[in-house]
Amino acid sequence: MLFLAKVIRTKNFIQTQPSLYPLKTNTSPLISLVIPVCNEAENLPILVSKLEEVLTAYPNREYLFVDDGSTDASVEVLNELQAGNKNIRILKLTRNFGHQPALYAGLSRANGEAVITMDADLQDPPECLPRFISSWKSGNKVVYGRRKNRQSDGWFKRLSARVYYRLLTKYSTSSIPEHVGDFRLLDRQVVDDLLAMKRKDPFVRGMVAYLGYTHDFVDYERPLRNSGDTKYTFAKMFSLALNGLLSFSTLPLKLGLFLGIISIATGSFFLLYIIYDTLINHEVYPLYKWLVVFLFMFNGLMFILLWILSEYVSRLFRQNQDKPMFVIEKEQ
Ligand code: UDP
Ligand code: MG
Repeated sequence: MLFLAKVIRTKNFIQTQPSLYPLKTNTSPLISLVIPVCNEAENLPILVSKLEEVLTAYPNREYLFVDDGSTDASVEVLNELQAGNKNIRILKLTRNFGHQPALYAGLSRANGEAVITMDADLQDPPECLPRFISSWKSGNKVVYGRRKNRQSDGWFKRLSARVYYRLLTKYSTSSIPEHVGDFRLLDRQVVDDLLAMKRKDPFVRGMVAYLGYTHDFVDYERPLRNSGDTKYTFAKMFSLALNGLLSFSTLPLKLGLFLGIISIATGSFFLLYIIYDTLINHEVYPLYKWLVVFLFMFNGLMFILLWILSEYVSRLFRQNQDKPMFVIEKEQ
């Protein structure tokens, strides 16, 4: 009897609970494309027509163009395109905030179950998109586009990227894959986590690596820019690189410690040497020579104190950066 009551209760329990796994509906999941735009008027119509061509199998899609303070006709072109295409959404930032904040702005407004970020200049070929989506459907939360060639970049960019990523991979807390840029797919869960991190340094690729979800790569040949010039000036590239290094590597912080140890070790070595020379060989060292040795040791101590200070300062810095990363002027 007791057993029967238990069974009935269990049965009721099962029936009254809302289903954890809702029945699958026939609508395909929404795919969002986040595309930062800075003076890409000539590329936009070609990009949209290519996207429409390769994504016909995914009727549930949105193209979220983030206008990052374009000064050419990009916004007008986008408005025109939007009039003829219900999949287009436009996010207009008040001014140029830079590629990474623009990406972040797009991520914060994308609705998709999967969100793909790509450039507007056709260097991230739309033809690869179905491969991204199928890899995501097979369970990868992050799918990176990986460049097979860097021919489209100048020798300086290639060399600096190589050295930089070596350094970053070696010394950062999370490993950022090589030959990977911002052409990637993120699952909704990753996007939510990314936004919840509330990190103010918008080095998206570092944050994605930091989250550490299961990931996959889609290899592709990177073509030359379709039209216009790169918007990444040397200064912008340098500041992005510095941002990545400072936010995702503790190496610069360790510099004080490293110099301090070297300086103290050198000082100690000379100190032992002159003590030995004085005691054993009865060599007389003038005061200034002793002072040089102590200078080494005190300098070392200073370096170590600086290192301790920098550790504190970096923690304060991270907590106090509360300026908004982007300001949206209009959302259509
Ligand atoms: N971009 C942007 N804001 C900027 C610089 C670039 O939104 O301040 C956009 C640009 O329109 C393009 C993408 O970011 O869609 C990548 O920029 P770019 O092609 O100039 O970089 P590269 O491919 O040379 O690294
Ligand atoms: Mg480009």
